[in-house]
Amino acid sequence: MSTYHPLTENEAIEIARSLTSVLPNAETLHCREIGDGNLNLVFHITDPNSGRSLIMKQALPYAKVVGESWPLTLDRARIESESLIIEGKLAPELVPQVYKYDPELALTIMEDLSDHVIMRRGLIEGGRYPRFAEDISTFLAQTLFFTSDLGMNQQEKKLRVRDFINPELCKITEDLIFDDPYTVSANNSYDAAIEDEAEELRTDGELHLEVALLREKFLTQAQALLHGDLHTGSIFITPESTKVIDPEFAYFGPMGFDIGAVLANLLLNYASRDGWHASDSEAADYREYLITTIRDIWTQFEAKFLKLWDEHGIDRIASAAPGYKELYMKRLLQDTIGFAGAKMVRRIVGLAHVADIDRIEDAAVRERAQRTALAIGKSLIKLNRRAESIEQLIDAAVTAS
Ligand code: ADP
Ligand code: MG
Ligand code: MG
Ligand code: MG
Repeated sequence: MSTYHPLTENEAIEIARSLTSVLPNAETLHCREIGDGNLNLVFHITDPNSGRSLIMKQALPYAKVVGESWPLTLDRARIESESLIIEGKLAPELVPQVYKYDPELALTIMEDLSDHVIMRRGLIEGGRYPRFAEDISTFLAQTLFFTSDLGMNQQEKKLRVRDFINPELCKITEDLIFDDPYTVSANNSYDAAIEDEAEELRTDGELHLEVALLREKFLTQAQALLHGDLHTGSIFITPESTKVIDPEFAYFGPMGFDIGAVLANLLLNYASRDGWHASDSEAADYREYLITTIRDIWTQFEAKFLKLWDEHGIDRIASAAPGYKELYMKRLLQDTIGFAGAKMVRRIVGLAHVADIDRIEDAAVRERAQRTALAIGKSLIKLNRRAESIEQLIDAAVTAS
């Protein structure tokens, strides 16, 4: 294979041509680069004769953010393709199929999911996804249980932890989520209108204590193989199907980080609804839908995880010790709530925002959405170690809106 260089569309076509099992008898192939161009190239390749297609994702050796550029390991393409393969085994049908991984070119060739929409966009447009809670709770329960010490051989797991050491991508999370929003940092970005909120984030000692504890957990707890970036931009969806993409931040970390990411992004959308509906009652109706989805995700996740534990738990003392399972699930809920809060806060004042809120045109409505998201985020962070029930997360959201 050729040495690493960013591919042109024509080179991508030549590589696609060699994948005869996916694109048999291809004559003219069409190619379009469709990535956002910050970290990776994404080529969409189609055969107009057969209607067949595939996606090629190539890692770039740098990250481009706010005009600046910093080097970023190409090894994340390996992490991404290996994660997709592991996730595909544990949660069949819930990730794209990987056709090929080329380490030299940092290239993953995978199933084309263009018949799905990116969930963030689907939610902004008011779409409803009746399968989502069922599918994402299955994805979370299967991938987290079977890569933890509860469901995986513990020596084997240690070797997997080593394979998924992902220091550069983890550092992005450590800085952008668990540090920058609480200090003066060139990475932060927010509307001047909410400077008062940003100032409060920098001075709230109670909040800082909880963020430091969450950060410690993210740095030290190799509980299970996480997706690591499970926001609604990493989920492709239709009413009938859910597919998780983009696990380049995968590493062994605290399970609540992935579950919290999903809930945080639903709550960010929740905070944005006044910007997306013609009437208050429509917005309220959609918020109700999001709340039901959040409740269903946690409830179904918990039931599925406990069932896997009953049927496949390999750790004798963890399975038999009176009260351990209850305590484990309670701590998992608490982590989920804390990480969800941290993920919300950073999307308002930190480097990377969400379109759900940023794209609201009316400045006053947008500002209200930002303040609502921050209010929910801060209350979740402060609640986390005291939480006993998912209803407390829901109460925090309802109270803030
Ligand atoms: P990044 O890590 O750069 O965010 P993603 O994996 O999220 O890259 O992909 C960026 C975009 O490329 C997605 O939002 C989607 O539009 C498109 N894309 C990625 N993977 C696929 C796929 N398997 N099928 C169709 N489109 C895809
Ligand atoms: Mg992107
Ligand atoms: Mg992405
Ligand atoms: Mg990515």
